[in-house]
Amino acid sequence: MLSYSVDGNGIATLEFDYPGKSQNILNAASMIAIGEAVKKALADPSVKGILLASAKKDFVAGGDLAEMLANPDAANVAAGITEWHKVARAMETGGKPVAAALNGSALGGGLELALFCHYRVAADNPKARFGFPEVTLGLLPGAGGTQRTPRLIGIQPSVPLLLEGKRLKAADAHKAGLIHAIVAAGTERDAARHWLLGEGQTNAQQPWDRKGFKIPGGGVMTPAGMQFFTGANAMLREKTYGNYPAPKHILSCLFEGLQVDIDTGLKIETRYFASLVASAEAKNMIRSLFFGMQDANKLASRPADVPVQKYSRIGMLGAGMMGAGIAMSTSVAGIDVVLLDTTQEAADKGKAYAVKQWNKQVERGRMSADQAAALAARIHPTADYADLNGCELVVEAVFEKREIKADVTQKAEAMIANDAIFASNTSTLPITGLAEASVRPANFIGLHFFSPAEKMPLVEIIVGQQTSDATLARAMDFVKAIGKTPIVVSDARGFYTSRVFGTYVSEGMALLEEGYPPALIDKAGLIAGMPVGPLALADEVSIELVHKIAQQTRADQGSAYAERAADRVAAKMVADLGRLGRKSGAGFYDYPADGPKRLWPGLTDHFPQKVGAGETADETVQELIERLILVQSAETVHCLEEGVLRAPIDADVGAILGWGYPAFRGGPIGWLHTLGPKEAVAKLEHLAALHGARFAPPDMLKHMATSGERFYPR
Ligand code: NAD
Repeated sequence: MLSYSVDGNGIATLEFDYPGKSQNILNAASMIAIGEAVKKALADPSVKGILLASAKKDFVAGGDLAEMLANPDAANVAAGITEWHKVARAMETGGKPVAAALNGSALGGGLELALFCHYRVAADNPKARFGFPEVTLGLLPGAGGTQRTPRLIGIQPSVPLLLEGKRLKAADAHKAGLIHAIVAAGTERDAARHWLLGEGQTNAQQPWDRKGFKIPGGGVMTPAGMQFFTGANAMLREKTYGNYPAPKHILSCLFEGLQVDIDTGLKIETRYFASLVASAEAKNMIRSLFFGMQDANKLASRPADVPVQKYSRIGMLGAGMMGAGIAMSTSVAGIDVVLLDTTQEAADKGKAYAVKQWNKQVERGRMSADQAAALAARIHPTADYADLNGCELVVEAVFEKREIKADVTQKAEAMIANDAIFASNTSTLPITGLAEASVRPANFIGLHFFSPAEKMPLVEIIVGQQTSDATLARAMDFVKAIGKTPIVVSDARGFYTSRVFGTYVSEGMALLEEGYPPALIDKAGLIAGMPVGPLALADEVSIELVHKIAQQTRADQGSAYAERAADRVAAKMVADLGRLGRKSGAGFYDYPADGPKRLWPGLTDHFPQKVGAGETADETVQELIERLILVQSAETVHCLEEGVLRAPIDADVGAILGWGYPAFRGGPIGWLHTLGPKEAVAKLEHLAALHGARFAPPDMLKHMATSGERFYPR
């Protein structure tokens, strides 16, 4: 775990090498080992200075989240942290200089450990990052990060690090004042030893332990401080509606902790940290955003025994919005793309879109002109199917029409190898049906990207009835190769994401028909944590599309089709009022050329308003939130029951990445898990009695409520 050696100059080197892991992590075992080694070095009169170093490629990756999830008891957490604070304070005030040699990244608890040291020297390592990602998982840096960082660099400069989880490159961390020096990679230990034997001998004190210490840039009770906290609180509230306790607690740690001495500040931080570790929000975020994403990105559900497919050249049919975006992601991954459209001009237009985006990045200094040129050179626009020769995979994103898709499938398959994969980016057409046009349906699969495809991280992989396991595995390899996160679903109407996301939009439209004020409906969506209100979202995806899908579903299902409120609202908006959504400049909102969008004043004439359901405005908002959130959960459980989804975690990862479902709830299933099946069933039964069968608790959930089974371990 930790090797201990003292050299001839009296420098004790503590080299961290967590056994059996690729990264050093901090947990009970490693913290005890570090604590004992520090004690030994401080007690040894022959030791003149202490060097902390890593045997891995990075310094320390952070705290052990698995251990934290397994033991989230607030009292235990506080006890463990209090011991760790003692180690930190011994290092800081033990009278011997302590330095950290940062060969690679120091994140979270790892950066905190580095901040215990009097001196930090980093290798010039372009891959190294320094920061506190805790807030992105519903936590705060609980080993002094909220106390030492602002005492070192000031309150305002700490904000991106602590509240946004921003990770800095070595040069930026140096500029910010987190790191003392950057040296050539491989010389960082020598540089640290040099400091320990030189300046360190007379300078083994932290700034905050010096007499007369002041917070750089001004403390809490200064004009700058007061202005900061007033603004920061308001901004946080506006952004999160109070849904995320972590940033709120971080601000409290700063406000309270920076008015007292460091030891008291650390106690304050510990209290807030322990309450976060035990919170449902942190558990949900860690489960979905950390472990769930990690498994998805590692392709944990990939069929085994299929050799990994490497990609060097793919074909992209359709150079429209989606095709251009997918081509961009592919090129960024170093894979050549043949971008085909009906004419050379149309294909060129798709490439021009990509080039324009990259040029913008060059202008902003995020990419060099050479890099942009190299990316552009990998996109080969064409109208000639013969150019698809040699492509390992072809993805189509042509118009959403069965005949056109069938036509391009046949033309492409005539050009590609027998074992190449053909994928459709359809958002609504069943994959099994589209595969009928294919001569090798086992190699036919759905790869459903989200818009804008160059930015959105999720790909919903749809397995058709005849899609082989090998095709699934190789398609997953492609998604991984282009740095996106896959979830695997089966071939049913709306697949998973469109189906469940659609219930949110529909519920908003039902509320409108019931007479709730449109402003309240969209605000309730935002307060619930959704990124956009349901009516605004209907405008974005287009009310016309909602209307068309309803018509198509009705035509397909005949008398079995149950009409929904949203169908009536969409029909009225599109057929009667000609308001198709944002793209036509008129939907639930107006889109004036000279200002921000605003709700269409005519809306309430056509959907007369009634009073809210609750006794008070707050009750009404709560009821709306429950409906907008639980309608998604109920539909998601149906997807699990029907086998559209293979695992609850796919539902949660897909919802958060696919349509911005609020992470603090964990996902549509994570939220049911948070409520517990019993309470979830009770809430759904209540809503079903009032609003109809779409809320009726699914059998799977009812069974859980009586059997005690759960979606996830406690
Ligand atoms: P788009 O209209 O922007 O682009 C379609 C492109 O396909 C056009 O450039 C068109 O010229 C080209 N095309 C049409 N017929 C062709 C043919 N026979 N051969 C070659 N090229 C042809 O549409 P889009 O938004 O990029 O959507 C494309 C596909 O992706 C559709 O199936 C759509 O359902 C799906 N999709 C769209 C979104 C979205 O948000 N827009 C999201 C997921 C999936």
